Amino acid sequence: MGFTINDSGRLLRDGRQVELIAARPSHTGGNFARTPKVIVMHFTFGGSGRSSADWFRDPNNQGKSSAHVVIDRDGTVLQCVSFEVIAHHAGRSEWKGTVGMNSHSFGIELANWGNLKRGSNGWVSWTGVQIADPEMAVHKNGNPDGSVTPIGWERYREAQIEAAEGVAKAIIAKYGCDEIIGHDDISRGRKWDPGPAFDMGSFRARVLEDMADDGDNTLRVTVAEGLNLRKGPGTSFDVLELLPAGTALRPVERNGSWILVNVLNNAGVARRTGWVHSAFVD
Ligand SMILES: [Zn+2]
Repeated sequence: MGFTINDSGRLLRDGRQVELIAARPSHTGGNFARTPKVIVMHFTFGGSGRSSADWFRDPNNQGKSSAHVVIDRDGTVLQCVSFEVIAHHAGRSEWKGTVGMNSHSFGIELANWGNLKRGSNGWVSWTGVQIADPEMAVHKNGNPDGSVTPIGWERYREAQIEAAEGVAKAIIAKYGCDEIIGHDDISRGRKWDPGPAFDMGSFRARVLEDMADDGDNTLRVTVAEGLNLRKGPGTSFDVLELLPAGTALRPVERNGSWILVNVLNNAGVARRTGWVHSAFVD
């Protein structure tokens, strides 16, 4: 499974564009003036990923909210805003002295009910949906209701986290982001997502440590006649370009004998991503 982002800011999964449920244009902020260096993680505080994506195009959405992608509990990824365009996912926010993080970050929403309420028979969402086996925890900034004893939080699913990892890696490969933070890090006291059920430490490790292995991890094209860079992991996918012998590549992830790579320019900076067959690099 591999995610990539094309030059229009569209997300591809194994070489195919993921489903687009486009946010209303008035719920977005035009093209980024500067490439964001930060990825912000969220929970939707809602049911299906599709229902949240639909909300981003709903004229009744007074907050005009949106996000670049919504990842459902089963790992399905829906794109709502191009990665070239500002999404309204952060609201009032500040990070390291920069205010208004919509203009400086990408937003990934995870379908999740977030903080739960005590029901007559266990924990329920704010809409009354029963949630079995929640994570019991206190939010690091204090719970939304001001309590400091553990409350229930819906757990995230591995398929969902795996997809989020792939999307975050694709964003980093394309745009060179170097930070992953929570909405609760940039809108403290106002937002509680992705919350304590999201293991930010291990997520960062999964995404960033893999990506940081450049240098000695760099591969080179070894075939004199050049090597096809493809849109997906297989010869059925379109050729993006012919990479000359000696081209430096940074591996992102493997899929069988195929490797998703960043193609590096002479300065060692990633200029595009694609798939190559592992037999022709070393
Ligand atoms: Zn949020």
